[in-house]
Amino acid sequence: MMTEKKIQMVDLKGQYEKIKSEIDSGIQEVINTTAFINGPAVKEFQSDLEKYLNVKHVIPCANGTDALQIAMMALGLKPGDEVITASFTYVATAEVIGLLGLTPVLVDVYPDTFDINIEEIERNITSKTKAIVPVHLFGQCANMERIMTLAKKHNLYVIEDVAQALGADYIFSNGTKQKAGTIGTIGCTSFFPSKNLGCYGDGGAMYTDDDELAKKMRMVAHHGQSVQYVHDVLGVNSRLDTIQAVVLKTKLKHLDSYAFARNKVADYYDKAFANNPKLKTPVRSLNSNHVFHQYTLQLTGIDRTKLREQLAEKGIPAMIYYPIPLHMQNAYKSDRYKDGDFPVTEKLCACVLSLPMHTELEPETLRYITETVLQLIN
Ligand SMILES: *Cc1c(COP(=O)(O)O)cnc(C)c1O
Repeated sequence: MMTEKKIQMVDLKGQYEKIKSEIDSGIQEVINTTAFINGPAVKEFQSDLEKYLNVKHVIPCANGTDALQIAMMALGLKPGDEVITASFTYVATAEVIGLLGLTPVLVDVYPDTFDINIEEIERNITSKTKAIVPVHLFGQCANMERIMTLAKKHNLYVIEDVAQALGADYIFSNGTKQKAGTIGTIGCTSFFPSKNLGCYGDGGAMYTDDDELAKKMRMVAHHGQSVQYVHDVLGVNSRLDTIQAVVLKTKLKHLDSYAFARNKVADYYDKAFANNPKLKTPVRSLNSNHVFHQYTLQLTGIDRTKLREQLAEKGIPAMIYYPIPLHMQNAYKSDRYKDGDFPVTEKLCACVLSLPMHTELEPETLRYITETVLQLIN
């Protein structure tokens, strides 16, 4: 192997080394003061993120899945209500819909951008539909302008799953920009270590501009409690640890430069793979910038399993996000759907391959990865 350092999908260690002293002293201070729960860093991070996103309320919680669940609970969604989301996504999005007894209504995505198909959303709206959950998959935004128009017309809530696109800008057709997650009724994100803004454990947050909703989400996340030991609604226990808030507060300052580093990696891959008929590079959407949570190729005429094995032998990891469409998963099978109902999702699950993508990839490593991929597929 050319490079001495092991190539990883995500290099959290290399990233940590550059901010080590600030992180270490911040974490040590939490231990010294034993302010493990709701320590000052939680509020500080919350307010830093509100400023960064230009949103009125950030409500931290324990993880991104909780964020989606708390959002749906605070909106008062009830069993029988239908919630429309994408069939090509991480399972958490559909999981919480099912857990709350709501009906997930899956719709297909666009083949180029992997984003939820707007015509399909419209076709699936019924009198029971209460909310749309667009997923800003792999780091760029779904078409929020069209989704918001549909939502207004049919009086629906919009919960943005921004777990993979924190920091991305949505670009409206008049040219104005707004941060992903701050356009819908509520935005939900995850601070899982490998996400674009990741902590050193689990974490998540909801965002909203609506004062009432913010109050409700805080209450639901805190055992449905309004005043200590007074419980007004059914809630959960979902908090962001102070130690995680220290990590996030430190890393938030670097988030834009992290996105820049990811874009440089994407540009390198794009250039190396341009015009290769077997590899389709990610298509950049016109209504969003891209923060490249993943760099995902679509393969044509390549044995994906074999390529992954051969890459692994050469020390190059590659992942399949996601191998099985939701409607074909045992937990989500329903009379509503049959195999073949979501042709784009089914095709993508069979042909996508994500390459290493993180903030610490050096040109030398990128050269090794791209040259190896090109050699193996020829
Ligand atoms: C990671 C992720 C989640 C869930 O986040 P956790 O913090 O792991 O619970 C939800 N939706 C999407 C699209 C994700 O990528």
